[in-house]
Amino acid sequence: MGILRVVGTPIGNLEDITLRALRTLKESDFILCEDTRVTRRLLDHYKIQTPTISYHQHSGELKVDKILVLLKEGKDLALVTDAGTPGISDPGGKLVSEARAALGNNFKIESIPGPAALTTAVSIVGAGFDRFLFLGFLPHKKGRQTMLKEIIASEYPVIVYESKHRAAKFLSEIIKFEKEAGVEKEIIVARELTKMFESLYFGKAIEVLESLQIDSNNLKGEFVILIKSKLKDKNKAQYGEE
Ligand code: SAM
Repeated sequence: MGILRVVGTPIGNLEDITLRALRTLKESDFILCEDTRVTRRLLDHYKIQTPTISYHQHSGELKVDKILVLLKEGKDLALVTDAGTPGISDPGGKLVSEARAALGNNFKIESIPGPAALTTAVSIVGAGFDRFLFLGFLPHKKGRQTMLKEIIASEYPVIVYESKHRAAKFLSEIIKFEKEAGVEKEIIVARELTKMFESLYFGKAIEVLESLQIDSNNLKGEFVILIKSKLKDKNKAQYGEE
């Protein structure tokens, strides 16, 4: 039986990859990629010639069966995502579950850890994130309003992922629900982490939104949004945890 190795890859800067990850990508029989073109850039950079197979959120049973056959034949597979650690807001977790369910306990899955956008963001925003609630991408429609209300009401800091199309919308929604609840949160937007235009924006949602909207380039790229747990109750004079 082959081994499935779940490999963390950079979230932007191609140098953010471990020696073990590079060796694994070189030595595997195949690399399972969310988007083979994205992973090809990384592989070309490190002159890795391992053949790739696409595995993404729309991959069906046939593709999973093909992957399971390869493992049964003794092929070692590396699973990567477009950015960061497979299984965090991407289809990686689904494949790991399917393989585990089909192949049972004799089958080995190894982690080759690397960066993730949320831990990278937490590492540079400062105190207040010893514990947090990670919600990944909010649903676009059904359930979105409920989750936004939960974010506003949360006693824990909350971290979400947003695409460039929705970062401003998300902040506008936060402002609306803050008004309804009579609270103001501290927001941090971490944009384009590890890349040339890496930037952090701190402040109230309205302030952060204004900073992003000052220049349309600020709304480009990839975003992690962190919502601190400190609530400002408008009826109270100070910020407080409870
Ligand atoms: N598996 C990934 C991880 O380990 O973080 C995340 C994959 S998810 C499909 C992609 C989202 O992660 C983006 O929409 C963005 O919210 C966040 N992200 C990825 N790279 C980022 C970066 N360089 N800067 C800020 N956010 C990033």
